Amino acid sequence: MPLVPMKQILDEAAKGHYGVPHFNVNNMEQAQAIMRGASEVKSPVIIAASRGALKYSDLVFLKNIMMACVEKYPDLPIAVHLDHGNNLESAKTAISLGFTSVMIDGSLKEDGKTPTTYEENVKVTREVVEYAHKFGVTVEGELGTLGGIEDGVGSGQVQLTDPNQVQDFLAKTGVDALAVAIGTSHGVYKFKIKPDPDKNLLAMDVIKQIHKLCPNLHMVMHGSSSVPQEYIDEINQYGGKIPPAFGVPLWAIKEGIAAGVRKINVDTDLRLAATAAIRKFLAQNPDKFDPREYLTPARDAMVKVVKERYIAFGSAGHAQDYKPITLEDAKKFY
Ligand SMILES: [Zn+2]
Repeated sequence: MPLVPMKQILDEAAKGHYGVPHFNVNNMEQAQAIMRGASEVKSPVIIAASRGALKYSDLVFLKNIMMACVEKYPDLPIAVHLDHGNNLESAKTAISLGFTSVMIDGSLKEDGKTPTTYEENVKVTREVVEYAHKFGVTVEGELGTLGGIEDGVGSGQVQLTDPNQVQDFLAKTGVDALAVAIGTSHGVYKFKIKPDPDKNLLAMDVIKQIHKLCPNLHMVMHGSSSVPQEYIDEINQYGGKIPPAFGVPLWAIKEGIAAGVRKINVDTDLRLAATAAIRKFLAQNPDKFDPREYLTPARDAMVKVVKERYIAFGSAGHAQDYKPITLEDAKKFY
């Protein structure tokens, strides 16, 4: 099966009323964990590379790791997505590498730090959409800004998405999916206190309002790792020093999915699971030095997380619901 445009995976998720996790990839073990987990629970897959990941892996390595996913798992629909593209050039690079989806984060300037005006956001997003759609490639935009800074990306300030701007943004840009800011942040320190339904840390009403106004829009939740306490505890038990940290609880993500969220970005949880497993292994086996020996439990720990997310978001069991289309087919959408 060739890579599929991400739009198809999201369209099918909307039909089936479920969400699909987007997992960030930087190396082979992460990619293998994401794919093995998906294969075991039969889920469609969205693997994403940030600009930081492409830099770390020197483009060509990551490209070929992603292509290996397709070769090894021909029976799963897989989309490869550029996370937080910052200009038309980054979209062009990703598309030339064979990515089937790109994000243009027009909420920030090219430096990935300074918030843009609404007009600037519309302009750069429109440019990327015009370019990408010629290739049948899906485009995700962003309206509002997320909190936190990850890989040098982020203004550090949260600007919630204004539901009343969404229709205009969609009409002017033509994006296929939209990242919405509802108070989540990138990284591990999303909240200082544990979110519960009464504290209103997450602006779930923003998602519900947007869904009412634009019922066909595929919304994306960024910064949506749940930061399981067990991994923080394990890391700290074996020599780590992570202060108290809370993520986005699964109940909030499920509430989002019920109101039109189709893609949920998860990165930190895999990092935590891998680090906890490596720290534990090395602490218990101080004489070991073969990376394969500590990367094997790290990979197994990541498989466990990805399977839990595929099941929790509802995408498990849906890999064979539909016949995958190609980018060539996707050109007809536009
Ligand atoms: Zn993000």
